[in-house]
Amino acid sequence: MIRLSGTNHLLGHRLWIKDFPKPTAQIQIPYLIIGGGISGLSAARQFHKKGISDFLLLEMADHLGGNSSNGQNKYSKYPLGAHYLPLPNFEDKELLHFLEEEKIILGYNEKGLPVFDELQLTFAPDERLFYKNNWQDGVVPKEGNSVEDDKEFIRFFKEMDAFRTAKGVDLKYLFDLPIRLSSADKSTRDLDKITMKKWFENNNFRSKPLFNYIDYCCKDDFGLGIEFVSAWAGIHYFAGRKQDSVTDKNESVLTWPEGNARLASHLKKYTEKKTLKNHLVYEVKVENNKVVAKAFDDVKKVSIEIIAEKVIMATPQFVNQYLIKNRKEFTKAFHYTPWLLATLTVNDLPDNFSFPLSWDNVIYDAKGLGYVYAQHQTLNQVQEKKVITYYYSFSSGDLKKTRKEIYKKDKEYWKQVVFDDLKIAHPDIEEYTEEMEVFILGHGMISPVPDFIFGKAKENAAKNIENRIFFAHTDLSGISIFEEAFHQGINAVNQILNDAALDS
Ligand SMILES: Cc1cc2nc3c(=O)[nH]c(=O)nc-3n(C[C@H](O)[C@H](O)[C@H](O)COP(=O)(O)OP(=O)(O)OC[C@H]3O[C@@H](n4cnc5c(N)ncnc54)[C@H](O)[C@@H]3O)c2cc1C
Repeated sequence: MIRLSGTNHLLGHRLWIKDFPKPTAQIQIPYLIIGGGISGLSAARQFHKKGISDFLLLEMADHLGGNSSNGQNKYSKYPLGAHYLPLPNFEDKELLHFLEEEKIILGYNEKGLPVFDELQLTFAPDERLFYKNNWQDGVVPKEGNSVEDDKEFIRFFKEMDAFRTAKGVDLKYLFDLPIRLSSADKSTRDLDKITMKKWFENNNFRSKPLFNYIDYCCKDDFGLGIEFVSAWAGIHYFAGRKQDSVTDKNESVLTWPEGNARLASHLKKYTEKKTLKNHLVYEVKVENNKVVAKAFDDVKKVSIEIIAEKVIMATPQFVNQYLIKNRKEFTKAFHYTPWLLATLTVNDLPDNFSFPLSWDNVIYDAKGLGYVYAQHQTLNQVQEKKVITYYYSFSSGDLKKTRKEIYKKDKEYWKQVVFDDLKIAHPDIEEYTEEMEVFILGHGMISPVPDFIFGKAKENAAKNIENRIFFAHTDLSGISIFEEAFHQGINAVNQILNDAALDS
C-alpha cells in the first residue's frame, strides 16, 4: 500500500487568492506568535522564562512542530522532517540549558563537560555507507579509495579542522553557531560569493569520492548540493560545530524514533492552553499602534481577528510575503529546496553481518540521501517489521520549476523513484515492502545559495516593522537547523522585551 501526503500546500495556496470569510470574532492579547515550528515554540519558552504568560500561538496545521514533526504506524514513530541534533557547542549555553531542562543532559563531569543521556545518543552502529557494492562503517568513503583519494580526504579534513578553530580579528570564530555570532572577517565572508564546488576546484581537489561526500553533506543540511550551495555554508557544515562538548572527538548525535519531534514535544508544554491550531493567518498589519492579524479557522470555516501589542512571525518568508505588505521584492532572494521523505514498513531487510543495519544508512552515488532506521533507538531490538525513512532532496538550479514538476507526479511515480534508488543496496526491497508513506515538503528548507547568507534581502526581511512586528524563522539564519530555529525564537522575544525596557 502506498500513501502520498505532505505539508498542507492546498490550504497555504489560499493565501494567494485570500477568499476567506470576514472575521466574526475578536481576541485581544499582548503577544502573538504566528507559526508553531521550533522557532515559534522556542519563542513561547522564552516568554515563559521571562515570566510572560499572556501570549497566544497560531498554527495553520492540526499539530505543532512544523518541519520537526513525526508520523506513527503500528510498529514505530518516525520523522516527517528533522531527525537529529548534533552535539551542541559548549559555548551555546542557552541550548545546553534547554537540554538540561529536558534531561537530555544529565549533569556535568569533573572537566565541566555535559554528560548526555546515553539513551538519547545514537546507539552503535550509528552510520554505514554502501560503497563499491559493500557496506562499510561510517559515511565517509574509505574501503576501495585510491591513494590519491585518501590523501585528498586527509587534506580536506585538516582544512576543515583549521576552519573550525580559526578566529577573525574581531576574535570571533570564522564559523559559529548560531551563524550571527560568526566573525565579520571579509575574506571568509567572501566565500559566500562562490559555490562550494568552485571552492573545491580552487583548492585543487579532484577526488570523486570526496566530491560525492561533500555533496551528500551539503544536501543533508541544506537540501542543495555542492554545485549550488555557497562555499561559506558548505564549510560551515564542517566548521560551525566545535565538537567541544565531549572529551573525545565524538561524532554521535542526539536522536529519537520520531526525530526532532521529540524536541518539539518538549517545547510544546510552554504553549499549553495558549494555542489555536488549524488557524491559517492570512493578513498582518499595524493599525492605530496595534497589530491586527486575521486568521482562518480551517475546522469551523470562520475567520477571527486578533489585536496584539507585538507579534512574532515565526513563519517562513515565502508565506510572510502574502500576509504583510511590501515584502515581495526581497522575498525573491529566498529559495527553498523541496524534500521527499518515504517511510517504508518492511517485512525484512536481508543484511550484511559485518556492517549491520545502522541508524543512518547512506548509499554512495544514489539520488537520495539513504535512510534512517526509526526503531534503532528503541530498546526492544527484536522487531516484527522494520520501519525506515528514506530522504530525498530536490537539489536543482531552478527550485521553483522543480517544485511545480513535483506536484504533477503521482504516488506510483514516487514509489518507483524510491525503490529504484534503494535497490542499489537492497535489490529485493520491493518484495519486502509492505507499506510506503511518501511525504512531500514543497518548500522544505531555505537554501543558502551564494550571496544569500550575508546579503541585503535577508537583512531587510529580518528588520522589525514599527517595533510591532518581529521576525523569527530559520530562513532568516540562511540555514535550516534546530540550533538556528531555537535561537531565532529566543532573539525575537529578547528584542521585544529590550524595546519594552527602553520604552519605559
Ligand atoms: C526534510 C527535512 C529534514 C530536516 N532535518 C533536520 C535535522 O535532522 N536536524 C535539524 O536540526 N534540522 C533539520 N531540518 C531543519 C528544520 O527545518 C529545522 O530544524 C526547524 O524545525 C525549523 O523550524 P522553524 O520554526 O524555523 O520553521 P518551520 O518548521 O517551517 O515552522 C513554521 C511553522 O509555521 C506554520 N505556518 C506557516 N504559515 C502559516 C500561517 N500562514 N499561519 C499559521 N501558521 C503558519 C507552519 O505550519 C509551521 O508549523 C530539516 C528540514 C527538512 C525539511
